[in-house]
Amino acid sequence: MFGLFGKKEKKEETKEQHPEFLKLVEKWDAFLGKMTTRFNESLVNAEEALIDNLEENDYDIDPTMTAWQGIKSQLQGLRTKIDTTFDDKVAPQMQEYIERWKLIDQNQKGVRLGEEFLDRIERFEIILEGKISKKFYDHAVKGLNENFTCTQCSAKIEVRKDVFHSHYVSCDYCNTVNTFTPNDKITQIRWVVDNLAKHTAITEWDTMQQAKKEFQDIRPPREEQDKTEYITAYKKREETERAFWIKYFTERSEFLPDYKETIEHDVDVKMKWFYEERKRDLNF
Ligand SMILES: [Zn+2]
Repeated sequence: MFGLFGKKEKKEETKEQHPEFLKLVEKWDAFLGKMTTRFNESLVNAEEALIDNLEENDYDIDPTMTAWQGIKSQLQGLRTKIDTTFDDKVAPQMQEYIERWKLIDQNQKGVRLGEEFLDRIERFEIILEGKISKKFYDHAVKGLNENFTCTQCSAKIEVRKDVFHSHYVSCDYCNTVNTFTPNDKITQIRWVVDNLAKHTAITEWDTMQQAKKEFQDIRPPREEQDKTEYITAYKKREETERAFWIKYFTERSEFLPDYKETIEHDVDVKMKWFYEERKRDLNF
């Protein structure tokens, strides 16, 4: 019996060393390499194209953001392409040499790359939207003070650089109260500020993502098991997530000072789901 079993093992091993099988593995690796190259190039091209797009559209930010959503779904599609290529082509061919359950290692290579793509798209989006928003912001802010004069005496009136909605401004010369109505671009500043703040907090975002990954790598302990490592990982997540939101809301309030007083509250609102998750998990 024992000898027979040993023999069978050896036979399986030989199958996995089969030159035709190894060729298929090589082909699969080359395909994944090609996907990575294509992904990397697409990111570089996307950034250049979208920045150009913003200038060509005379700083109308909406078409640029719509174009990005299109590129984004193409990038996400590369992950689907990896999955279907494996299922439809690679797996059936490999199965001629090894059993289905032994394909898991080969399958995992593709799954991991697909997940890496999604993570990188998420991070790329923060940087890209940050850069586009900065370019837009610098342009729009220039227009803040242009041609705004007193209706009564025609004196030039300075407008606050941090209020992007309609508001009253008194004339320094004759005290007449004028209504400042920003143009469309200036109204949009209010929206790009979120992107600018998030981009500025990218270091904190990275640290937070790292803590999340470390947390996910820990198997949740059962009732009777030691929870120290798990609790520590939760603590790290809490600290890094808080640090991110504090940085984010602080940066945001630099553009929108009205929000300075609510930073603490805004951070708490963002952290709420974290505490709910921890409560469910650890009961505190
Ligand atoms: Zn005046």
